[in-house]
Amino acid sequence: MTERLFEHDPHLFAFTAKVLSCEETDGGFAVVLDRSAFFPDGGGQPGDTGFLGEVRVKDTRERDGQTVHLCDAPLEPGTTVAGNIDTAERLMRMREHTGEHIVSGIIYRRFGFHNVGFHMGAESVTVDVDGVLMWEELLEVQRAANEIVRRDLPVRAEYPDAEALERMEYRSKKKLTGAVRIVTVPEADVCACCGVHVTHTGEVGQILILSRETRKGGTRLELLCGEKAERYCEALAEQSRRIGAMLSVKTTQIADGAAKLAEETERRKEQIAALSKRLFAEIAEGHRGVGNVLIVEEGFSADDTRRLADAVARVCGGSCAVFSEQEGRQLFAVISETEDLRPLCARIRERLSGSGGGKADCVMGSVRASADEIRTFFEEEGWSV
Ligand SMILES: [Zn+2]
Repeated sequence: MTERLFEHDPHLFAFTAKVLSCEETDGGFAVVLDRSAFFPDGGGQPGDTGFLGEVRVKDTRERDGQTVHLCDAPLEPGTTVAGNIDTAERLMRMREHTGEHIVSGIIYRRFGFHNVGFHMGAESVTVDVDGVLMWEELLEVQRAANEIVRRDLPVRAEYPDAEALERMEYRSKKKLTGAVRIVTVPEADVCACCGVHVTHTGEVGQILILSRETRKGGTRLELLCGEKAERYCEALAEQSRRIGAMLSVKTTQIADGAAKLAEETERRKEQIAALSKRLFAEIAEGHRGVGNVLIVEEGFSADDTRRLADAVARVCGGSCAVFSEQEGRQLFAVISETEDLRPLCARIRERLSGSGGGKADCVMGSVRASADEIRTFFEEEGWSV
């Protein structure tokens, strides 16, 4: 069995050890040492990366009590190597893992819900609990968790004997046999866990619950710890400042400012709709009784082309086609109270490199053609343009 140096000192990131074996495996070499501070993947915490001498360790796994370092080059058995763990990555994972225990422990103590899933991703940590928690409750959990962090309490990892274990009350995802490792965060959590943790809660840094999502009768939480939480808060503060400046409101009132802006936008939309209705009615009046009408104008939305074509088609005594350029394409709508437009639409698609369709009295779509090409097409269709 590999001697696991992180059991005695989770802050040991450099060590020397003897190479016991080295086997070629899929895409690398599996190296076993007599002792190692590398943490092998387990309990939701990914395996460490780093270096053994000059050789890169891409991942670390456990196999039959041995710590297996997956390396990108071979190492000679019998030699002594210097092990160096990717310290920043490992410290982050220790902080996140302890942070997760604090949050899960507090949720269990306050609400009796169990942690049923835990994933440590590159961006954040996700935690699944088997009960529904609302935002106000999670804010309470977050405050209590940060209080535990501020008090810088000692975190203990130990293997109690069978008798002591029997008397202990601890969280565990499954029934455990053999030596059980118990990780204790005073006043927050007692949990069976094989992961590497910080030695004092202060190391975790800020704990931030980023999101909540209800799933299968439970809740999925997304957490950030330490530096990640700090960077996130900095980015949020910066965004808030910029939004506040744009809305001309204090940073603490941006939600009210945004709500006011949304209201204003809605009012403007209604105003524009009313004005364009009047405009379209006036344009339609100009075409009363003239037969087929083609309008090619810039700046109309797809909905505007339809509304204008509709207004004109009601009074012109024929069909009305409206084309309007948007981002390199001409949007169109054709409406008729007298003719089945589907054959015309097929010819538009074919002759003007377009797409679209619709019902007998209304077709819509877009074409890749110039205003002149569109006019020529309708002239050839016998429309006076
Ligand atoms: Zn754990």
